[in-house]
Amino acid sequence: MARIVVVGSINMDLVTSVRRRPEPGETVSGDGFALVPGGKGSNQAIAARRAGAEVKFVGAVGDDVFADELRRVLHDAGVGVSRLRRVDGPSGVAAIVVDGNGENSIIVVGGANSRMTELDAADLEAIAVADVLLCQLEIPVQTVLAAARHAHANGTAVVLNPSPVHELPADLWAEVDIAVVNEGEAAQLGSALDAVPHVITTLGADGAIYRGPDGITLPQPGVRVKVVDTTAAGDTFTGALAAHWHEGPEIALAWASTAGALATTKLGASVSIPTHSEIERLLSR
Ligand code: ADP
Repeated sequence: MARIVVVGSINMDLVTSVRRRPEPGETVSGDGFALVPGGKGSNQAIAARRAGAEVKFVGAVGDDVFADELRRVLHDAGVGVSRLRRVDGPSGVAAIVVDGNGENSIIVVGGANSRMTELDAADLEAIAVADVLLCQLEIPVQTVLAAARHAHANGTAVVLNPSPVHELPADLWAEVDIAVVNEGEAAQLGSALDAVPHVITTLGADGAIYRGPDGITLPQPGVRVKVVDTTAAGDTFTGALAAHWHEGPEIALAWASTAGALATTKLGASVSIPTHSEIERLLSR
């Protein structure tokens, strides 16, 4: 069983559905509302746990009504929360509007995630003894860099999902062993990814493609499923990949692509992440 530490974000998604989004100054009546725990860090931690890894989460929630619920969701999924801190102010939230055409508008407020600026001795120790460090870019990039440096120096494999993509310090790439990007991110990052030994580019319904340190590429075909909602498919793919990386790229990609496909068959982020037996069942077909 791989030991994984996720240093990343955790959010409460406030999802409203409405036929037509309001103009500035206008009030409209909505059709539905749901509170859905999310955040790339939390989603990927749960995905890695369900895919079979032992997972610890290093992150922050605020001091508001969402904090306990966010902690509970991780804990109930079997993710270690002893390194989840509580900071003053709001938890991370994403206000999401889904209109009648299925189009999303999202406002993300980093809240406690933006305040993840320090790693303490216990966080660093957890990273040093883990097999894999898994990070995204929804917390301050300097924290990601510090975590990655410490992992690299201690022989812990560094998996980076550089999402949401933005300008990164050049020295971060030297610390990354495995990058997981979608096609848009791959295009934006361009030659920066050349410095990374293992790059996996996800291709939606078409699966993914792996490029290794020797330049050899390995295509992973998509898994055919009945798609309901693609939210968190990329997070599920990344978590499952990290959980099975120690078995080699071929096996890790098969798990990731199967888990990612299954995540599209249910509505919502954290609830759509498949279990170990669901992934195994589809894999063995
Ligand atoms: P993102 O959601 O981050 O943009 P992708 O759309 O590439 O990333 O999806 C990530 C992974 O989820 C894919 O590599 C694939 O395994 C799975 N996936 C996404 N959409 C589908 C789909 N329509 N059918 C099957 N698998 C899918």
